[in-house]
Parts: sequence; structure tokens; C-alpha cells
Amino acid sequence: MTNTHCPYCSLQCGMTLERTGPALEVTPWPEFPVNEGALCRKGWAAAGLRGHRERLTTPLVRDSHTGALRTADWDEALDLVAGRLRDLRETDGPDSVAVFGGGGLTNEKAYQLGKFARVALGTSQIDYNGRWCMSSAASAANQAFGIDRGLPFPLADLEQTDVLVLVGSNLAETMPPAARHLDRLRDRGGRVVVIDPRRTSTADRADLFIQPVPGTDLPLALGLLHLLDAGGAVDEEYIAARTTGFDAVRCTAAGWWPERVERVSGVPAGELRELAGLLAAAGRVVVLTARGAEQHTQGTATVLGWVNVALALGMPGREFSGYGCLTGQGNGQGGREHGQKCDQLPGYRMIDDPAAREHVARVWGVDPASLPGRGRSAYELLDALGTDDGARALLVFGSNIVVSAPNATQVGERLASLDLLVVADIVLSETAALADVVLPVTQWAEETGTMTNLEGRVVLRERAVAPPEGVRSDLDVLAGLAERLSAPGPFHTHPETIFAELGAASAGGHADYAGIDYDRIRAEHGVFWPCPTADHPGTPRMFEGSFPTVDGRARFVDVEHVGAAEQPCEDYPVHLTTGRVLAQYQSGAQTRRIRDLADPGPFVEMHPMLADRIGVVDGQPVVVSTRRGELQAPARVVATIRPDTVFVPFHWVGANRLTNDALDPSSRMPEFKACAAAVRS
Ligand code: SF4
Repeated sequence: MTNTHCPYCSLQCGMTLERTGPALEVTPWPEFPVNEGALCRKGWAAAGLRGHRERLTTPLVRDSHTGALRTADWDEALDLVAGRLRDLRETDGPDSVAVFGGGGLTNEKAYQLGKFARVALGTSQIDYNGRWCMSSAASAANQAFGIDRGLPFPLADLEQTDVLVLVGSNLAETMPPAARHLDRLRDRGGRVVVIDPRRTSTADRADLFIQPVPGTDLPLALGLLHLLDAGGAVDEEYIAARTTGFDAVRCTAAGWWPERVERVSGVPAGELRELAGLLAAAGRVVVLTARGAEQHTQGTATVLGWVNVALALGMPGREFSGYGCLTGQGNGQGGREHGQKCDQLPGYRMIDDPAAREHVARVWGVDPASLPGRGRSAYELLDALGTDDGARALLVFGSNIVVSAPNATQVGERLASLDLLVVADIVLSETAALADVVLPVTQWAEETGTMTNLEGRVVLRERAVAPPEGVRSDLDVLAGLAERLSAPGPFHTHPETIFAELGAASAGGHADYAGIDYDRIRAEHGVFWPCPTADHPGTPRMFEGSFPTVDGRARFVDVEHVGAAEQPCEDYPVHLTTGRVLAQYQSGAQTRRIRDLADPGPFVEMHPMLADRIGVVDGQPVVVSTRRGELQAPARVVATIRPDTVFVPFHWVGANRLTNDALDPSSRMPEFKACAAAVRS
């Protein structure tokens, strides 16, 4: 029996794996505190990819004569990749090769991928799919608090607050074991507020449900601050002692009276007043945002708007109170800390900081001047592929970009224009099917590595079974390529050795893992970063005394509402928003292949009034179109969505052919959650 963690979302539920003959059985691990033995449907079915008939067990290389993928041995595949990369670097320079990572990779893999890009390839062109997940919240948290950790407190603290406000989160469906905290909070007499264009199963648990137009969460925050300030409910003492910048924010909020908010957001002024009353009367308030608020061209501003509300109430740093972001991907937190972002080095250091370069270069045994600078963000990197200015080769680890990228048709065209596309994956995903070389890699349960969950708790996924013959770890792949490229420094393959190196590289950074080791994680059910030394207890709760800013104060940041980049018009009269369903995870490359997670597939959720207008009934096929593409799927007619909005889940090919690639100016997050669409029968 092996205690480990789920392969999917950022809750990283503890589970026990047991071999029963050839099968691998998932059973609860009740002692792990984050989920207390509870698992969602995806967790229970996690072993379903073991022994799957579509599992890749040998490298594939595209045959130059037939154009089809054929099997190859590892030496042939790695020699081919290394040779092509070397040629490209010599003819077109190091930035002719790009690397794309994922928020599901372990910390060790994310770290090694960043090191491989900077040291073995010398390229600045590396980013990852987490850019499309939490980057707006990360940007806002860095601006406001000087640090980015999704939740600055343990998840269980939610039970002890008085009012919990969830902005754009369907927590009950995306991470069901976490919903017990909402139930316990309400059992204690606390209140739950849910803000979402759809009445989701999370909204069903709410005491107050607010249903704004997609892309208008920021005016709600501004209007709320207006009411709190007008009602004398802001915490002047806290603001004076622990923050800067309130005057400008107060001035902007003064222009957002409730009736103006109602005109923009569709939320009745009375509901906003009710929410303001709830917050004004509460001693403890937690505000949490998720993708619904964040995946916008104004995602960073929207999060800052809600952070401003929390700061005005004096909550961050107070017990059972504050602001947090509900991270999405399994290692969405750790994946953004250790160097696979285009502007970062391990430990959440910035790549253009000379001291950071010096420190990390010393750990890597290279000259700081040899490290490349800041590269392009995820979508910009993909959009430049094959152009005069972009990379000509792309290595993809842990991402299925032709399904998950916005404006996915264009991204597919960019991939097709490359000289070389290499994909490391466990199955032939839609992206792997386009590759010139496919490398079969280990999956969860076949490898050991750490993940950092949504609380900043570093947990250990232990290997429970041997991988199928012919499969290698991503760490082996990177080491094999680094050796062929004559890269300086060691590229270890043992996860625990890499974790120790990661700890040294992160030492002194914001995300400091230097005091964490595998034995400690096992003994303590995870360790919260920052944890700078072996005798440091870790940091479950942040900001109690001060904020990690230059002056120790949190910053109010003045933000103003602009709106989604695309607004409904005559040709595209409704709002389109996208999101998840319970049984699927991310691009669905894994979960769509698991029999126990079989579901009817994509759908277009719409209100009965809209269905009437276009003349369809539940289950009938409809076509959703935007300026970028169209998708056909059955209508799901429900009264729980706004009449002016349609919803499409993004786990299947097609949803992201519709979405808008307009980017947030700060986080470079695409606007997945709002664009203009037309629907027809
Ligand atoms: Fe837990 Fe998330 Fe896995 Fe479900 S998908 S079992 S909520 S970690």
C-alpha cells in the first residue's frame, strides 16, 4: 500500500494505492487532512489509465516518406531530436527552439524543464499552460501583497470565517471534497456568497447568489467598496497601519454607485446592498477568486478589485480572514514557482533580477551572463511559432495545447508550420498526434515527485507501481537530451536529488523550499512554503505581522472597469463563457479515455428563453459561432444560466476554437471566459 495523491486538481487529495493482481486500486487515505478520505469521481477513477490500450509505450517518429508516425527506439528518437535542435540553434540561434510546460508537472519536472531550457538550450522561449490558469491572480497578488501563494492560509480555515465570498468559482463541481468546508461553515452559522453567471452546484449551497454578466466582476467589487465606504464599514485603522494607496481606490469606487453597477453587470442594486450589509456586519471575511473572475483581459484588475475589498475590510493577515485564489491544475502553484514561466527562475525569482541570476547560476554551475532573459508568455510564444520572429522547434511536456489554447485553430496552424514538434505524453493527445516525435513518458503512480497544492502545501506523490516497459520519465528524457546537447552541469534523474537541488536554487527566494525534504513531507502530511531551514516549521498562514513588500504594507491598486475585449453585437448577440464539468479534467486527454468517467461529451448550455428564440429544445444540436470559429453540440437547456449567456465546457476539441486570444496586459492571460457569440439551430 502506498500513500500518495490524486493526479488531477490542485486540492491534491490524499489517496492510498494498492496492487490487487494486475490492477491498481484507489482507496481513501483518511489521515491526510486536506480531503479527510473524501475523493471526487475523478480521483476514484484515477487508476483507469493504467494498462489502457491507448497508452504509449514506444517513441514515435514521423516517417519522412509516408508522413505517418512510426515506432522508433529511444536512441533513434533522442538522437533525432538532439540533432535537429543543435542544427537549429547553430543556424538560427538559441531562441529558435521553444519549450512549453504544464501545471500538472511535478515540481522536480517543472524545475528541470526550466533549467533545461536556460542551460541546455540557452533559449528564453519557455512558458507553460498555467499562464492560462492562475496568472491573473498571481499578478494581482504580487502587486498587492508582494508574493503569490494561492491561499495564504490552510483551506480548512474557510470553516471558521463568518462570510465566504466565492467569485467565479464552481468549487463544488471542480473539487467536491472542498465543498464540505462550505457546509461546515454554514452549520456554524456563517454565510456563503457565490458570484457566477451560472447557478452552479456551488451556488446551490449559497446564502446569497449573484448572477452577473460575464466579465463584470470588477464593477461588482467597485460598487461593493463604494457601499462599504459610504456606510462607514471600511477598517480605517487597518488601512492606516498596514496598507498604502487607499485614497485613489476610494476615489474610483466613489464613481460606482449601485445603480451604475446594475446597468453594467445586470445585478440588481438591492443584491449588491445585501452583500455589502453582510460584509459590513461580519467580523471575518474571506474572498476567493477563481477562473471565472480571472480569465479575462481585465483578470488582474478584477482580482485587484476584490483584493481591495478584502483590504478595505481589514481582512488579509487576520485570523480566518483574507483573500485567496483557488488554483486549478494539480501543480498550478508549484508549477509557477520553479522556472517554467518565461520571466522566472526557481524560488519565484525574477529572471531579470541580477541577484537572482547570480544565485541560480551558481547552483547550476554556469555563468550568470549565459542565462537568457525574459521570453514570451504562453499564447504569444505559440502565436509566434514558425514566423520570422518566432521559434522553429517546440518541445511540449505535460500540455495538450491544440485543445487548451485560445483561438485553437490558429494555434494548430502555427504548430503545423514548425520544423520540429516534439511532444512527451502518456497517450496520443490531439497535440501529440501532430508531432514529429512523440516520447512516451511515465504517469502518476509510476513516478515519485512533489506537488504544491492550492494552499502552498508541498506534498509527495509516491511511486506505487513500475511503469510499462519502454516508458521513461520526463526527467530521463531531459537528461538524455541534455547529454546529447553537451549541456553543462549535471541533469539528475532521481527526483529526490533534483528536489534537493531545487531547494538550494529556491533558497532565499519568495517560494523558499530549502528546509523541505521528502522525509519531512511524509512525516508532516506536507510542508507549507516558505520553509527556509530544516528546523523552520513552514508557513501555513501568511501576512500575520507584515506583508513581504518593501515597506511591509499591502498595496491598494487603483483599477477601473473597461470590460471584455469583445462585447455582444448584432452578429454575435450573446456572451459565451467556458468552464469545467465534474468528470473531466483540463483538456480531457486523460479523463476522456477513462471508462468510469464516460459522459455524453460537449454541450451548449443555454436558458429556455434563448432556446425558444432560436427554436431548439433540450438535446437538439446547435451551432455556436464566434469571430474565430464554430462548434456543434447538443443544447442543454437550463434555467440556471443567464438568458444572455451560453456556456461550453472546454474539455473537448472545439470550445477553444471559439475563445478570444485577447490578453490581459499584466498577466498575459487570454480572455477564455467572455466573448461575443451567435447560436443557431
Ligand atoms: Fe481531489 Fe481534485 Fe482529485 Fe477530485 S480531482 S479527487 S477533488 S484532487
